[in-house]
Amino acid sequence: MRPSESARNSVANLVRLGESLLREDSNARLDAELLIAHVLGCDRVAVYRDAEKKVSPHHEQAFCELVSLRSSGRPIAQIIGIQEFWSLPFVVDENVLIPRPETELLVDLGLAHLRSLDAPVIADMGTGSGAIAVAISHERPDATILAVERSIAALAIAQRNCARHARSPIYLVRGNWLAGLRNYQFDLIIANPPYVASGDALINTTSIRFEPKEALLSGLDGLEAIRELVAGAGQALKSGGMLAVEHGYNQAMHVRTLFQQHGFCDIVTERDLAGHERATSGRITGS
Ligand code: GLN
Repeated sequence: MRPSESARNSVANLVRLGESLLREDSNARLDAELLIAHVLGCDRVAVYRDAEKKVSPHHEQAFCELVSLRSSGRPIAQIIGIQEFWSLPFVVDENVLIPRPETELLVDLGLAHLRSLDAPVIADMGTGSGAIAVAISHERPDATILAVERSIAALAIAQRNCARHARSPIYLVRGNWLAGLRNYQFDLIIANPPYVASGDALINTTSIRFEPKEALLSGLDGLEAIRELVAGAGQALKSGGMLAVEHGYNQAMHVRTLFQQHGFCDIVTERDLAGHERATSGRITGS
């Protein structure tokens, strides 16, 4: 072995180094493994299998750069460009909200409503990465889904995720919430809208500062987008159709009141795995 080669770091050494540099990060070890796997173009299993393999200086340099990005607080999903949701790998970048595990609860709520329906027609409002639309499409190949998004950059990401994972037609449409959808009638309108209050300190102090503000912030009380959706959804739903929205842990009561004011019935709030009231649904009866 040439001396220069023996002096190189192994995969395992770099993982240890990354872990110690990321000690502020609660998933330091996992993140270091994901970053080295990303640089080497392999999966995490290979990080263990090839632990003693030497890493080229070029790859080591790339790894160092990613570790410093991570230690600046940038979410791991944005660095490696992938976030798992509904057990599928979604492409993400800084133009879309990173899909959160609690949003799977919203998908569950929607799917439960669709169970008794054949060939349902669904709208995912503010689709972002397309996570909700794709997850529903995965479970319901008989569905037709309209995924609406205002940001062109986000639509490009959604497009890639739909091309990769959709099992039913997903029509990506540029638009602002329900505006422009007057001629449609849906069985389900589903959304993870922005719901953070504009003055919330979280937006500058946590890693959500790296995510698009327009996917997070929604007026002074965080309810602007939800208000608009609840007010407009009745017209766009078939009789018996459901609106399901995700919201902040302290917004459930306000959201239920909005649903009531706009004629929804069977209003239900579900809690996420952390025990927070996280998603509310209601149905429209009559026409
Ligand atoms: N749940 C996100 C958070 O971390 C907010 C997502 C949203 O606004 N839709 O605060």
